[in-house]
Amino acid sequence: MARTAVSRRLGDRLRWRVAEVTERRAESATAVTLVLEVPEWPGHLAGQHVDIRLTAEDGYSTQRSYSIASAPDGTRLELTVQRVVEGEVSPYLVDELMPGDQLELRGPVGGWFVWQPEQEEPVLLVAGGSGLVPLMCMIRSRRAAGSRVPFRVLYSLRSPAELLYGPEIRQGTPGVDLTHIYTREAPQQSARPPGRITPDDLARHGWPPDFAPTCYVCGPTAFVEKAAAYLVLLGHDPERVRTERFGGGED
Ligand SMILES: Cc1cc2nc3c(=O)[nH]c(=O)nc-3n(C[C@H](O)[C@H](O)[C@H](O)COP(=O)(O)OP(=O)(O)OC[C@H]3O[C@@H](n4cnc5c(N)ncnc54)[C@H](O)[C@@H]3O)c2cc1C
Repeated sequence: MARTAVSRRLGDRLRWRVAEVTERRAESATAVTLVLEVPEWPGHLAGQHVDIRLTAEDGYSTQRSYSIASAPDGTRLELTVQRVVEGEVSPYLVDELMPGDQLELRGPVGGWFVWQPEQEEPVLLVAGGSGLVPLMCMIRSRRAAGSRVPFRVLYSLRSPAELLYGPEIRQGTPGVDLTHIYTREAPQQSARPPGRITPDDLARHGWPPDFAPTCYVCGPTAFVEKAAAYLVLLGHDPERVRTERFGGGED
């Protein structure tokens, strides 16, 4: 691609845009999906994120990154934000931002942690808590593109009350096998006692390494590092284990 075309595309992604909140949906007691209208949104790939910039009346400004939850859909974008206790930004986004409010946003950002409908290999998605957000975008994009590539998903969460996208997850998607790993409190009918993800969980519910899946691991930093190390230990090619770290501790 010519140098001017590259710098034009980059410049477009680095440009701050004003987005408007058109809707908010509670996903759990501590997480909300914000539906945004972003004029001239250039489109995104599943797995990419945006940067959000908030500026107070006294000029103080701060930024955070949020993954895109929705499949590409014109100028409409969905973000899902999990409230972090005593966090600076997430409590504002979860509790105070309302339809009609505006915020600054730039992106899409990221080119490695993405899934594209042209990919033909099996896919393993491993999510810790709100790490499900970009992986849900991959599931939704797979569905929107009519892809039949088989997905296996391991979703680690503290308790059933923290489940994101409950109705959609419960409805299921043909070709997408989802296993819940509860770390603190499991539903009564669950055969697996609560506990953090183990190599056995990944071996049992993931793909054998010789199927050569692409693995996407996302969530709190400590969770991602542990799960990715387990996948390599199980024999997965490190080149095929893609990670996105959200910061924070393991839970
Ligand atoms: C590429 C990328 C994509 C992201 N996508 C999402 C997303 O889709 N949804 C989402 O909810 N968050 C996402 N995050 C995390 C988000 O950017 C913020 O870090 C998070 O909302 C906390 O911000 P805060 O201002 O509320 O907390 P801060 O004031 O920044 O931090 C307060 C305390 O919480 C800890 N902390 C920071 N982040 C986390 C975390 N993620 N989990 C637990 N503890 C944390 C800090 O170490 C600190 O002790 C993403 C992060 C990255 C880098």
